[in-house]
Amino acid sequence: MSERELVRTAEELRNKIAFHNERYYGQDAPVISDAEYDDLVGQLRAIEEAHPELKSPTSPTQIVGGARSALFAPVVHSEPMMSLDNAFAVDDLASWGKRIERLAGGAVGAFDCELKIDGLAVALLYVDGAFVQASTRGDGQVGEDVTENVRTLCGRVLPSHLKGHRGRSSPGSVAIPSLLEVRGEIYMPVASFEALNESRARRGLPLFANPRNSAAGSLRQKDPSVTAERDLAFWPYQIGTIEGGPSFTRHRQTLDLLGDLGFPVNPESQVLDDLAAVEAYCRRWQEHRHDLAYEIDGAVVKVDDLAVREALGTTSRAPRWALAFKFPPEERNTKLIEILVSIGRSGRATPYAHLEPVVVGGSKVQMATLHNEDQVLLKDVRPGDTVVVRKAGDVIPEILRHVPELRPASSRPWRFPTSCPMCNGPLVRLEGEGDTYCVNADCVGQRIQRITHFASRSALDIEGLGDKRVAQLVAAGLLCDVADVFTLALQREVVETMERFAEQSVANLLSAIEEARHRPVSRLLVGLSIRHVGTTAARALAKAFGSLDAIEDAAPEALAEVDGIGPKIAQSLTAFFASPANRRLLAKLRAAGVRVDEEEEATLDQKTLAGRTLVVSGRLNGFSRDGAKAAIEAHGGKAAGSVSARTFALVVGEAPGSKLADAERLGVPVVGEAAFVRLLATGELPASGPA
Ligand code: NAD
Repeated sequence: MSERELVRTAEELRNKIAFHNERYYGQDAPVISDAEYDDLVGQLRAIEEAHPELKSPTSPTQIVGGARSALFAPVVHSEPMMSLDNAFAVDDLASWGKRIERLAGGAVGAFDCELKIDGLAVALLYVDGAFVQASTRGDGQVGEDVTENVRTLCGRVLPSHLKGHRGRSSPGSVAIPSLLEVRGEIYMPVASFEALNESRARRGLPLFANPRNSAAGSLRQKDPSVTAERDLAFWPYQIGTIEGGPSFTRHRQTLDLLGDLGFPVNPESQVLDDLAAVEAYCRRWQEHRHDLAYEIDGAVVKVDDLAVREALGTTSRAPRWALAFKFPPEERNTKLIEILVSIGRSGRATPYAHLEPVVVGGSKVQMATLHNEDQVLLKDVRPGDTVVVRKAGDVIPEILRHVPELRPASSRPWRFPTSCPMCNGPLVRLEGEGDTYCVNADCVGQRIQRITHFASRSALDIEGLGDKRVAQLVAAGLLCDVADVFTLALQREVVETMERFAEQSVANLLSAIEEARHRPVSRLLVGLSIRHVGTTAARALAKAFGSLDAIEDAAPEALAEVDGIGPKIAQSLTAFFASPANRRLLAKLRAAGVRVDEEEEATLDQKTLAGRTLVVSGRLNGFSRDGAKAAIEAHGGKAAGSVSARTFALVVGEAPGSKLADAERLGVPVVGEAAFVRLLATGELPASGPA
């Protein structure tokens, strides 16, 4: 890039950042995700570091971002309210550790680790124990006076009068400082944010983008009675100024004092001795962030020793003694390229969004289900829109909303297609139903999905028979129904000449099919795509009747008697077995030598991982390494030491190491500890991708 271009790019980035600062801090209504914003700042910082002559003291990389509204009187902070430097990876933590040791001229002692609450920073002033003033961070030097709004929280989430007594501390009671400025985060719990948005949607009001913006919007109100109605809460994280109170040597002591004076102190903060323990803390909370009732976007690591802090000092925008370890983003903006419809095995037509690929929640997302026609209308998402995609933990990626400000002028609402994209048959939505169906019983799309499901892990688990191969074999006329899978060996020579099917992989596929002949009947039942019959119902039926013949012959009343079955599933089973086409299919399966009875129930129930290989990496909280292996083996699985393409799943705990990258490269599912526990119990992996 020429010097001129660099100057222009830096200027453009500064303008963009200023625009987004105003949307975020000024209007509490961001139009890009935090990750996109961080990318812009990162780009600007990289340019400024490579070309220091382009740095300026007013650059957003050098100042505390913020805004001040004319709605509020200014409050000059006694000490600047600063931002925090960020770490986006554990390596950044280590470099920070080295940097501060170098600056401090030796070891810096213990670290206080806290959750990074995603709310709004405030400074609260108490004089002689009474609440007198509250201000926002503003531009760091001067904040906004939100005293009357915060007063509505006094007595419920904040003390209006501090606990303790005047004068010296005595056992069981603390001395109230004559002046105390407490800094912390006002936030809105996730459930309250969701309830607030639901009620706003009912009243046709614009929705808040996230709990952080709803907290800020609720507090930065002209009318304090609006703040009073909102469910806000507070965690303090620092003392700004204190007069007439005890003196401290450690940050932890300041938090303890705040607790004694009547503030709620976050119970998850911990003082840890070294950066290895800090790293484990950050990883633990990254995995468990959704176990909390409020949102966090990272962890904050602070030097605990106040004298060391003093020596380290601050830059123009952040203290050197603290670092925010930011979790990978769970929300990102991306372009919705088109809305397509997939046809499920029951003929259900599910709209889904084809997206410009985006890494969110730790994985690449390029599709997201839109569930049904009503959901598309409700979210009013359209091709060409910029949408906010969210992927949290094991949860299926979803589109939260579109960004109205970024909608192209030519945009038109999307309409549900009237014919099936697979067979061209009619798509029908029945009166009073939310879903739309392809009603052509011969639909090739439904056939592909039924056969793919038959071969899937929860059914007969035939490795190498995914949807793409099934579609090819159906198109070649080699598979018409699920029973044809067992006659593929007869067509071996034809299959070997097909694209994607080399000689060796056909041999592997045929041996996987051979193995699948011997799976217990509960798996076969799952594979038959009988409405409402999933793994749990199939197991209950197999356990109660022992064989396919007995289930087929059972009266609906007898089926309904089985624990966990009930009349709806019984009716669906009876209808399935009454169909001549299905009876022909079952006869074909029997003729192919497919097993139609069940193993002893007592062993089967626990063998949820039979025939599957799992690998464990990293530290789990509830299992030792040997304990996790033993649990896998007790459930019929194999615990291997390294990941291969045949690995069923990689179980990851804290600090998983290189196996995680291997699993990602090979497309092996990765599960956290909670999903591992479910996997042991049910044999099922968390769902992902559109239905
Ligand atoms: P920050 O939010 O990354 O970190 C500093 C803040 O963390 C502090 O001011 C404090 O309010 C808060 N905090 C929470 N828990 C804390 C704890 N335990 N101890 C200390 N502080 C704690 O930095 P920032 O300067 O406030 O904001 C920058 C960030 O805001 C960006 O990285 C981005 O995520 C977001 N942002 C987004 C947009 C957008 O358009 N989406 C625009 C501007 C800023």
